[in-house]
Amino acid sequence: MESEETRTESETGAAQNDSGRKTDETPTPGSAGRVLLHICCAPCAVYSVQTLKAEGFEVTGLFYNPNIHPAAEYIRRRDTLRQFEAELGIRVIYKDAGYDPQVWFREVTFRETNRCFHCYRVRLEKTLFIAKHGRFEYFSSTLLYSTKQKHEVIAALGRDLAADGPNRFLYRDFRLGWQEGIEKSMAMGMYRQDYCGCLYSEVERRKKEIRA
Ligand code: SF4
Repeated sequence: MESEETRTESETGAAQNDSGRKTDETPTPGSAGRVLLHICCAPCAVYSVQTLKAEGFEVTGLFYNPNIHPAAEYIRRRDTLRQFEAELGIRVIYKDAGYDPQVWFREVTFRETNRCFHCYRVRLEKTLFIAKHGRFEYFSSTLLYSTKQKHEVIAALGRDLAADGPNRFLYRDFRLGWQEGIEKSMAMGMYRQDYCGCLYSEVERRKKEIRA
C-alpha cells in the first residue's frame, strides 16, 4: 500500500511555484482531507499548519510530548499552544494524561545514543493510534519542520508505521519555511524554547553553564 502522501498538485487542489511554495490559490477548507498533526511546540506549528491549511487540509493538532523535561517546561509549551491555537485556526487534542516521564525514560534507557529515534517513535505511534480511532485519513508531525531534527529518520518512521494500516503518513518538508516560521512566531509573541525538550538535550544546551 502507498503509505506516504504523494498526491499531485491537481489532486490536492493546491498550486505550488517552482520553489515548492504555495501560491495564493485557496482551496476549499477540508477538501484535501483530515489530518492529525502531532505538534511538538507552537513555534514549529506556525509554518506547518499554515502549509497544510493552504493545501486544503482540515488540520487537528495533537499535543503529546512525554519527552519534555521538566514538567514546568511541558506546561509552558502546552500553554503556549493553547494560547495560540485559535490564531493558528486549529483545534488541538491535549494528551496531558500521557505526560508520563517514566514511559519516555524507559523507552530511551540504554538507547541514549539513539534516543531521538525512540522519542520520535513514541510520539508518532500515539499520533497514528489516535488518527486511527478518530478516523483521520492522514497523520503527520511538526517534527518535520525543524532543521535540527533527523528529518529523514522521521519521514522513514512515519512511512513504516503507516505501511500496514488505512492512515497515510503525510510527508511534507516543512523545513522550507524554517525562517518564515521563526519570524512569524516571533511576531506573534510566542514563547520559543532554547532546547529540544528532553533532559539530555537541556544538558547539551547548557553544557558551558554547567561546567563553568
Ligand atoms: S533531543 Fe529532542 S528528539 Fe532527541 S530525544 Fe531529546 S527531546 Fe527527543
